[in-house]
Order: sequence, then structure tokens, then C-alpha cells
Amino acid sequence: MRLVLVGPPGAGKGTQAEFIAAHLAVPKISTGDIFRANVSQGTPLGVEAKRYMDAGKLVPDEVTINMVRDRLAEPDAAEGFLLDGFPRTTPQAAALDKLLADLGTALDLVLELVVDDDEVIRRLSGRRTCRGCQKIWHVEFDPTTTPGICDRCGGELFQRDDDKAETIAERLREYASKTAPLIDYYGAQGKLVGIDATGPVEDVTVRAIDALRSYGG
Ligand code: ADP
Ligand code: ADP
Repeated sequence: MRLVLVGPPGAGKGTQAEFIAAHLAVPKISTGDIFRANVSQGTPLGVEAKRYMDAGKLVPDEVTINMVRDRLAEPDAAEGFLLDGFPRTTPQAAALDKLLADLGTALDLVLELVVDDDEVIRRLSGRRTCRGCQKIWHVEFDPTTTPGICDRCGGELFQRDDDKAETIAERLREYASKTAPLIDYYGAQGKLVGIDATGPVEDVTVRAIDALRSYGG
């Protein structure tokens, strides 16, 4: 299955992507994770992306599209994938459609995680990520047994630089102006399914998998 997860920053895309990708047995491809890996390795792509990420802005389309094109060309994505955080603009969505059409295929479904702004701000301001295994935690909603230490791998947790109040506000503006139009874009293609992404993580996963099932996933 070829699936896209869309929703505002903090909607729970990364959290749900892990479970959904495992359920579908497809790779989870997160552009945010790929950018952050490049930033921590100090690659030229990472140096360029960091300027935008720190400001809460989207990385330019051309850079992002080229990166995703390379990733989708890897063999593990041949039979299906779950894209988390891409596309985020209409030109990215059009480029993805074209890329898949050239391969003789197409997206199956776009799952929208629906959460209001107040909840998103609560989620982002308490988000912590493991340096070791990248698992996503929350200080209040999904805390580790020992504060600051990952329950899964024992790694150290950190707060992302872009999860500061002023950067969060800019990311939400970017979402409203550049990413929200994708809802109409995919709606017009008949590929959009929205689910309520509030409540416990497990409940959201059940809703997501039910939605996929009703579309053959
Ligand atoms: P979140 O999980 O909070 O939505 P991500 O980890 O997906 O954030 O992305 C972090 C940052 O990486 C974004 O704010 C943006 O700067 C950059 N980024 C990720 N995906 C894209 C994309 N598809 N287009 C442009 N920039 C992106
Ligand atoms: P995104 O990838 O959309 O930016 P994340 O998956 O990183 O979102 O989730 C943002 C924060 O919200 C994380 O700290 C995560 O633990 C928390 N979170 C995710 N889903 C839920 C939920 N259903 N209820 C409460 N908190 C959640």
C-alpha cells in the first residue's frame, strides 16, 4: 500500500506512522527524520535544511523533492511505503504524483490526522525524542518510567530545537498556508480519509487501521 499521513505539526504522525507501517509491513519514510539525520551528520543537505528548520519554515520544495525521489528509488519502497511529513506543499504533491505515475503506480490513500491547535501546542511543547532509537515520548501524555531516559533502549531523551514556543507558532502558520491546501488537493482525487486523532494513542491507531481496512489496506 502507498500511503501518505498528513496533519499539523504535533498531530501524532510520527507516533502513528510506526504502528501503521508495522501493520502494513511497509517502510516508514519521514522527511523530518531524514533532514534531522543529515543535520546531525553535518552533510551539505543538513546544513541547508537546518536554516529553515530552526526558523520553523519548510525546506524548499526542490531540495525536499529530490531527497524523496532518491529515497523512493530504494528497493524497500518498491511495493509500498508510508510517507510521514511529505508532501507538505501542493508542488510536492504534484511532484509525487508525477514520480509515481512515471513508475506506473499511484498513491492509494491519504490519511489526515485531525487535531485542533490547542492540543497540537500541548503535544509539541512536551514532546521528547530518544537520541538512541528515535522513539517519540511526551512528558505528560506518554512519559518514560525514569524522566529523560528512553524505556525502550535506555537512550537519552532530548527536546527538538524547533519545539520552542516561537518556532511552533511559525510552523503552524506554515501548515495553514502551505500544507492545509493538500486536504482539498487529495479530496478532489477522492483519496482523502480524515480521522479524529484525539484521545489515547492506541485508540487513534485503531481508528487509522479501521480506515485503511475499509479502503482495502
Ligand atoms: P513535525 O513532526 O513537527 O510535523 P517534522 O519532523 O515532520 O515535524 O519536520 C521538521 C521540519 O523539517 C519541518 O518544520 C521542516 O522544516 C522540515 N520538513 C520536514 N518535511 C518537510 C517537507 N515535506 N517539506 C519541507 N520541509 C520539511
Ligand atoms: P508529529 O509527527 O505529527 O509532529 P508526533 O508523533 O511527534 O507528531 O507527536 C507529537 C507529540 O504528541 C509527542 O510528544 C507524542 O508523544 C504526543 N502524542 C502523539 N499522539 C498522542 C495522543 N494520541 N495523545 C497525546 N499525545 C500524543
